[in-house]
Order: sequence, then C-alpha cells, then structure tokens
Amino acid sequence: MKPVSYWLDSAPAFAGGETGAVEGEVDVAVVGGGFTGLSAALALAQAGASVMVLERGRVVGAQSGRNGGHVNNGLAHDFGATAGRLGLAQARGLYQAFDAAVDTVERIVMDQQIACDFRRGGKIKLAASAAHFEGMARGFDVLQREADAETELLERGRVREEIGSDIFHGALVYRRSAQMHMGKFGAGLAVAAARHGARIFENAGVTQWRRQGGAAYRLTTARGIVLARRVFVATGAAVDGPWFFRRRIIPIGSFIIATAPLSEAQVNSIMPTRRTATTTRHIGNYFRIAPDNRLIFGGRARFALSNPASDVKSGLVLQGQLREMFPQIAAVPIDYCWGGEVDATADRLPRAGERDGMVYAMGLSGHGTQMSVHLGQCMARVIAGEAAANPLAGLAWPAVAGHFGPPWFLPAVGLYYRIKDRLGA
Ligand SMILES: Cc1cc2nc3c(=O)[nH]c(=O)nc-3n(C[C@H](O)[C@H](O)[C@H](O)COP(=O)(O)OP(=O)(O)OC[C@H]3O[C@@H](n4cnc5c(N)ncnc54)[C@H](O)[C@@H]3O)c2cc1C
Repeated sequence: MKPVSYWLDSAPAFAGGETGAVEGEVDVAVVGGGFTGLSAALALAQAGASVMVLERGRVVGAQSGRNGGHVNNGLAHDFGATAGRLGLAQARGLYQAFDAAVDTVERIVMDQQIACDFRRGGKIKLAASAAHFEGMARGFDVLQREADAETELLERGRVREEIGSDIFHGALVYRRSAQMHMGKFGAGLAVAAARHGARIFENAGVTQWRRQGGAAYRLTTARGIVLARRVFVATGAAVDGPWFFRRRIIPIGSFIIATAPLSEAQVNSIMPTRRTATTTRHIGNYFRIAPDNRLIFGGRARFALSNPASDVKSGLVLQGQLREMFPQIAAVPIDYCWGGEVDATADRLPRAGERDGMVYAMGLSGHGTQMSVHLGQCMARVIAGEAAANPLAGLAWPAVAGHFGPPWFLPAVGLYYRIKDRLGA
C-alpha cells in the first residue's frame, strides 16, 4: 500500500517552477500554490499583472492534490438550516456561488485545454439513519424550489438504483455536480498560469510578512525576499501565517484509501451511476470511482490531524467502513492510503475578503475543489478594482474563542460527533 495521494502519484508533477532566487518587485505575490493560488495567478497574469506564486512545498502538494476528487455543486450544508440561519437570499446566493464555481472549473478546463477527466456525473447524498432521511425529506421542497430544481429525493427502496449497499435510508441526487482527476487538473492549472506569465516558486515558504506602506508587503521566503504591491493569501489550512487567519482557520484531518482497480462488474455492483457520493454521518464518508476504476473512499475517520502514522490508523478505520458498506468488494486490495488537513471555519462556510492590505480566500471546510478555483478568479478581479466580484462579501468572520492555531479542542469535538453518529442523530 502506497502512503501517497493517488492523484499525485498518477499524474505528471508540474515541471515549470522557477529555478532562480525570489527577488525584486511584483504587482502581486500569491502565497500558496494550491487551486486558490494558481487560479488567482492565472487570472492576474491574464489581466497583465506581474505575478509570483510562492509555495512552501510543491504545487498542489497539500489539499488540492490530496482530496476526494469531487467537484460538487451547491452547499454541503442543509439548505433549509442555512436559510434559517442566514436568511433565504444569502443562503441562495451561497448555493449559487458553488454552482458557479463548478462552471468556473469547467470553463478553465475547456479554455486551458486541461486533460483531467472532468465529468458532470452528479452527486448522491446518502442518509445514514432514518432520522437523517426524515430531515432530508423535510428540507427537500425548499431546496428544490429555492435553490436547485435539478435535485431528486430517493426513498429507501430506490437507493439500490444508485448504490449497491443496504445500509442507507434514502438519498438526494444533485445532477449538476462533477468530478475530475485532481493531480492532472492541478498540474494543468500551474502550466496554464506559467504560460500566461506567472512565475511559480516551489520550496519558497513565506516566513515573514512585513507591511511596507499602503498595501505593499516585504515577504521573506526560504529562497529570498520580494516586495509585492499586493499580496493574495491562499494558504489553505496553514496555522503559521498571519495572526488574523490563525484565529479563524481550524485544520481538521481527512483521510482516503484507494482500492486496486475494480472490474466493470464490481463497479456496477457498488456504484452503477458513478456519481460522487457522500453520507450524512457527522464523521461520514465520501467516495467515487476513479478513471481507472479504483474506488476512492474517504472520511474524517478518527477526527484527528494528518501525519504518516495517523493516516495509516485512519486508513484502517476507513477499510472497516468500506467493507461494511460494500461487502461484495471486501477482498479487493487497498493500493493507496493518505490524508490531509482541511481548512475549516467554525460554521464550515468559506471566506474571502481583504485584511491588513492582503486579499484572502480560504476556509473551504472540505468542500472546496470548485470554490478554491472560483474564488481565485473572483478575488483577482477584486484586486483589479472590481469589489463586487467577491461572492462572499458581507459574510462576518469572528475569531474562534480560545483558538490560536493548533486545534487543541479536536478530540472533544470528535467525541461529540461520534456520540451523535452512534445515536443516529
Ligand atoms: C483529504 C481531503 C479530501 C478532500 N476532498 C474534497 C472533495 O472531494 N471535494 C471538495 O470539494 N473538496 C475536498 N477537499 C478540500 C479541497 O481539496 C480544498 O478545499 C481545496 O483544494 C483548497 O485549495 P487551496 O488552494 O485553498 O488550499 P491548498 O491546496 O491546501 O493550498 C494551500 C497551499 O499553501 C501553501 N502554504 C501554506 N502556508 C504557506 C506559506 N507560509 N508560504 C508559502 N506557501 C504556503 C501550502 O503548502 C499549500 O500548498 C478535501 C481536502 C482534503 C484534505
């Protein structure tokens, strides 16, 4: 079993990184070379700005290259509950922003000719308990009427049309969701940004952020110093950046296993419609079939942070869950096991804006392969002076009480969710 991301292992790595020192002046320094940063760099370079991407490791080496491969539309949250909390107009606006985000990914794939197996196959959300299905059914009318006419509610007796398992109590189908190969998309996005003139520096983590009048910043990196007239912070789940973000971003581990390639008959026996799939458990699962017929099966597993030992322990939890869900493929070997940390916010909604002269987009909370790309593009337009381009403008973002970076409270939160899951609540 390889302890690496299947997406990164099965795609060519980006080879267009700069070899010289980080030095001089640029219009915009983008800190972070995941989907958010690369998408912003592409848009800024296309608009004629001089751009440097400063990435601590390799491009798309963090969340963007380590995720479940889903490009889902709409909110991951219950729409009715979100409307109850934020009001119908704002909830609908957020839902539509995620829909637009999938369109943005599709547009970039087409415009930049990125061969990444992008496919609009739809998503299925599976109710893990009778109570969860009742909640789904209660919220369905408002979801379909106010946000997404292309959704369908499936009673328990119809789940087998979609998923070869008897453990679910019903489901919701979202037809506008998509999926793609994350390693191929990420490398293609980096190549596109570089082709349009963005200079991409890997192994160039920013260690000092010093303001130098107005919105300009002097950034110290492992490979030199640059003066940037504007800074775009796209650092995902990092907890060592500027203080404002450390108090608001909560890193939470998420883990994935990938089976050996399945036969067509095995795929048809577990996921005949080949959609992306999620379950409603609080510590739930997400899964899909990869282009080479592997089952990519993920979840929060132990509600822990990711590191090599933690990834292996979580992989064992996931194997147990996979076998319970799909006993018909229990004997298929597991080829890959990996983990990563998602950049969660307290309400699991993303944030984008301007702070201390820096533009930022983050807090994607595990539902961000589409929104990262979209926000990179939108916030590039904000930098160009189009303030209304931020689809998340006006969303308040208070600090998390008692939180200053490392999430000391994760075990307690994990225990709370495990108890709720056991009760089916
Ligand atoms: C296991 C897992 C499964 C997921 N599954 C899905 C899914 O199926 N669908 C979905 O929609 N979302 C999923 N997500 C979330 C999704 O991958 C992210 O929302 C998205 O990739 C975020 O992109 P990003 O560019 O903002 O962050 P990242 O890809 O994390 O990029 C941030 C980059 O910033 C760099 N960085 C940090 N600090 C510094 C610094 N000081 N200097 C320089 N560079 C720095 C990091 O090295 C990193 O490369 C998943 C995430 C994980 C971890």
